[in-house]
Amino acid sequence: MRAWVLEKPGPVEADPLREKDLAVPEPGQRELLVRITVCGICRTDLHVVEGELPPKSPSMIPGHQIVGVVERLGSGATKYRRGDRVGIPWLHQTCGKCPYCRSGRENLCDFPQFTGYSVNGGYAEYTVAHEDFVYPIPTGFHDLEAAPLLCAGIIGFRCLRLSGIAGGDNLGIYGFGAAGHVSIQIARHWNVNVFACTREEKHRRLALELGARWSGDAAAEPPEKLDASIIFAPSGELVPPALRALKKGGRLVLGGIHMSPIPSFSYPLIYEERSIKSVANNTRQDGHDFLKLAAEIPIHTEVQVFSFEQANDALKTLKHDGIRGAAVLEVNPDSLAGERRP
Ligand SMILES: [Zn+2]
Ligand SMILES: [Zn+2]
Repeated sequence: MRAWVLEKPGPVEADPLREKDLAVPEPGQRELLVRITVCGICRTDLHVVEGELPPKSPSMIPGHQIVGVVERLGSGATKYRRGDRVGIPWLHQTCGKCPYCRSGRENLCDFPQFTGYSVNGGYAEYTVAHEDFVYPIPTGFHDLEAAPLLCAGIIGFRCLRLSGIAGGDNLGIYGFGAAGHVSIQIARHWNVNVFACTREEKHRRLALELGARWSGDAAAEPPEKLDASIIFAPSGELVPPALRALKKGGRLVLGGIHMSPIPSFSYPLIYEERSIKSVANNTRQDGHDFLKLAAEIPIHTEVQVFSFEQANDALKTLKHDGIRGAAVLEVNPDSLAGERRP
């Protein structure tokens, strides 16, 4: 199979992914062999490829927003059939035994595996995953539109949950990429007022198109005080201005897996019971709840499509804020499923 392989992390400008011809993986006990149609490109892929997240393996296929079709079942696999459309997310597997797994917090598992980071991911024609950790893709989503739901969507949803936001509240969204553009649709569905802070003009426009009450520059002060905010941008310097924009008791949620250092700030910024919380991964329940809601709303993802050959270029474009909505790698354009929305 064709696959993009990372052997040595480095700046994307140096094209660190190499195309290789690898053997199709064998599905193990209760695993599925999935023929990949598309794979969403996430900012985390950039952190993996550039080495901001330390390598977990000497050679790695990135990608963790995989949509494909079940090609073969490993022994003991019973939940899906050949031909079923499935999604494979970041949370590849958890141990099921550690205190976090046993207390409903498998996102914090002590021995987790992550797709496209600790095990091979979706910048390839095939991959394998345990049947308990894949999602059925709801009907109504085209493959290309479904891919960004699998990480940007699920993580955005978990950030919204942890923000405690409710109807009528004011929510700040800092950084308006793939996760931001899905989260705003959920927030608007819940009747939350959204204030989008982002440095790119085209991202500010998209936020307004999707129903933001206001949009401004990355560190700009919104015209109203906020009940909660989510920072999706990997920029620690946004934390102090985001705290400054919160009401008393406001909650600030950090949605990224990696962030530049947070500058020190004076106590009054966090006094009056303001809080900061990071989001680490998600539980499978988050994923199932989100995909059900995404189909109900329905979420419309704005995608910028890259051909399989363009994997390195897609990462460069993402690095330089060039994506409107979410980037998706088209692995197998001849077998895309679902209707594209107009
Ligand atoms: Zn565990
Ligand atoms: Zn991701």
